[in-house]
Amino acid sequence: MTLEEKDKQYVLQTYTRSYVNFVKGIGSTLYDENNKDYIDFASGIGVNSVGHGNDVLVKAISEQAGNILHISNLQVIEPQADLAEKIVELSGYDMGIFFANSGAEANEGAIKIARKYGETKFDNKRYKVITLEHSFHGRTITTVKATGQESFHTPNFSPYPDGFSYEKSILDVYKAIDNETVAVLIELVQGEGGVQPFDKVEIQKLAAHLQSEGILLIVDEVQTGVYRTGEFLASNLYEIEPDIITLAKGLGGGVPIGAVMTKHKEVLSAGDHGSTFGGNYLSSAAGNAVLDVLKPMYDDGSIDEILIYFSNKLKEIASKYDTLFEKEVGLGLMRGLRAKSAEIQVNVVNQCMDNGLIVLKAGRNTVRFLPSITINKKEIDEGFKRFEKAISTL
Ligand SMILES: *Cc1c(COP(=O)(O)O)cnc(C)c1O
Repeated sequence: MTLEEKDKQYVLQTYTRSYVNFVKGIGSTLYDENNKDYIDFASGIGVNSVGHGNDVLVKAISEQAGNILHISNLQVIEPQADLAEKIVELSGYDMGIFFANSGAEANEGAIKIARKYGETKFDNKRYKVITLEHSFHGRTITTVKATGQESFHTPNFSPYPDGFSYEKSILDVYKAIDNETVAVLIELVQGEGGVQPFDKVEIQKLAAHLQSEGILLIVDEVQTGVYRTGEFLASNLYEIEPDIITLAKGLGGGVPIGAVMTKHKEVLSAGDHGSTFGGNYLSSAAGNAVLDVLKPMYDDGSIDEILIYFSNKLKEIASKYDTLFEKEVGLGLMRGLRAKSAEIQVNVVNQCMDNGLIVLKAGRNTVRFLPSITINKKEIDEGFKRFEKAISTL
């Protein structure tokens, strides 16, 4: 039985997946079973924030694995407390953190905090959460309903929880608020929806308005968090102070971990929420290592340098191949090329794979780039060389 046959027989076919079998990774280079190398501009959809085989991360999780992997959340977990302290200090916000295992689960936690806030802090019950069209918040029944894309709300999984509505633009959010609205949930840069950043001033105005109304601002930083936009959080870049922030993808460098952080530390009390695995010894050790690698790179300016380098390359490509691409979009190391059609988008992604370069799709017509934060100039140069070769056939 080939690997593809085995996958098709035993794994539920919920993904349209490629059957390149990767067996080795070093930095931002992956090798398949035939020893063909690929430059990784996707980092496992923004997860491998410190690349493949990073020494510090490998050492931290190996040492932790050789000691305690897991003890339940009924005991205090020292690396979890360390990680919470690091995240809070890097964010600059006075918040408390709950650890989960994924982005969707972090968003579930955020929605639970908002619901309880809405139940207990107002004269009447407030439970409605406004989200944006083209957003993506996860795949659980609730987070899929929070996702502002009609195609996700198929009757196959109904009934969905009540209380979610979707707005076309930030300006429409103001009009949608009523006396049952408890929160607005947004990505500052929509990732899956097409690498679309919101305008900073518009976001700042919305944040101020929500604060004056006592309505919670929840920022889904599952993709934008952990230096993806160049700052520790996109909320830092936008210079806002959300009520609730969620994290996941890049935080564990590939080890599953999610986090929901809030300044309303008193809302959840004992028994309100929990997770068996969330923030266990292994995932917390990974999170600590990732931040130990990235913080010094932020401090010495090397993250800034690399994201400018990457962005300049992308701008060159966008103008050189203006028959294929409309423009370059995104922020930091969360970037895209808006293709002139969905067909071009698919062809580019497939041709790149054939030419040893991994890139992603986003939205209807965007080719998405989410390289690891530790990618170096040599890997970037080689990646774009392959990109040009790949698209020269189109
Ligand atoms: C990926 C993503 C999620 C879902 O995260 P999972 O770990 O797949 O549950 C939620 N929100 C945003 C913005 C994401 O990019």
